[in-house]
Amino acid sequence: MATPDPAATSCRLEFSVQMTCESCVEAVREALRGLAGVRVLDVRLDSQTVLVEASVAAEQVRERLEASGRRAVLRGMGGPAAGERAGGPGGPGGPVAAAVAALRGPGAVWGLLRFVQVSPQRCLVEGTVDGLQPGPHGLHVHEFGDLSDACDSCGDHFNPDGERHGGPQDEHRHVGDLGNIWADATGRATFRLEDSRLKVWDIIGRSVVVDAGEDDLGRGSHPLSAVTGNSGPRLACGVVARAAGLFENPKRLCTCDGLTLWDERDRERPPGQPAPHL
Ligand code: ZN
Repeated sequence: MATPDPAATSCRLEFSVQMTCESCVEAVREALRGLAGVRVLDVRLDSQTVLVEASVAAEQVRERLEASGRRAVLRGMGGPAAGERAGGPGGPGGPVAAAVAALRGPGAVWGLLRFVQVSPQRCLVEGTVDGLQPGPHGLHVHEFGDLSDACDSCGDHFNPDGERHGGPQDEHRHVGDLGNIWADATGRATFRLEDSRLKVWDIIGRSVVVDAGEDDLGRGSHPLSAVTGNSGPRLACGVVARAAGLFENPKRLCTCDGLTLWDERDRERPPGQPAPHL
């Protein structure tokens, strides 16, 4: 897996969870008890919010919350100390600290990536991509958030330093080089990695692309190795959009168009697709 030590990186996740009474609060706490890598910081009945510190994927926490019989929506993400430091990354008024990219392809590949700047030097990237052939697939941030010609208009790998292509651990690499993700036998790749070069605020409005083949990390003999890692055609892509940091998502349970947060959550599911990773 591309995941280093997951215990090394934690972030704070703020969820909206349907809770109507004190017993719900206890049930939510109970649901998260025993989930390794998750610490409950706050459960508020009045605002129906749950704040946790997690070193596991947000989706895993959301699934556990929903397993308690309550719908749950991720409202915001931030660094470990976000919210305590107003103005810091992830705190109110601070620089953009969280982003999201929904990947779609002309084919059957789709997915969702989240980026959280947990410190100035550490960007956490987590996500799930479905519909892949089992095995490794190159994953890169590209220059442009232009999907006018599907994934072919996304430009090259994001490379502000004029470097050659490389692997995520290499000194010489494109900033957008995230290496490979691995799909299992069902075609799903679930990953959580940390990157020292990527900054959330530099990639808003750019794109993420997953490729058909393995990225050779610039170590191959093919002429494209030093350019793209020779990872083949682009399967799916999505624009990187700003996501809410902690405590800065103003959306309440009921919005003016009559849709509740929960309706929107259900609507986000693509037709005929499995449960959303939102
Ligand atoms: Zn590259």
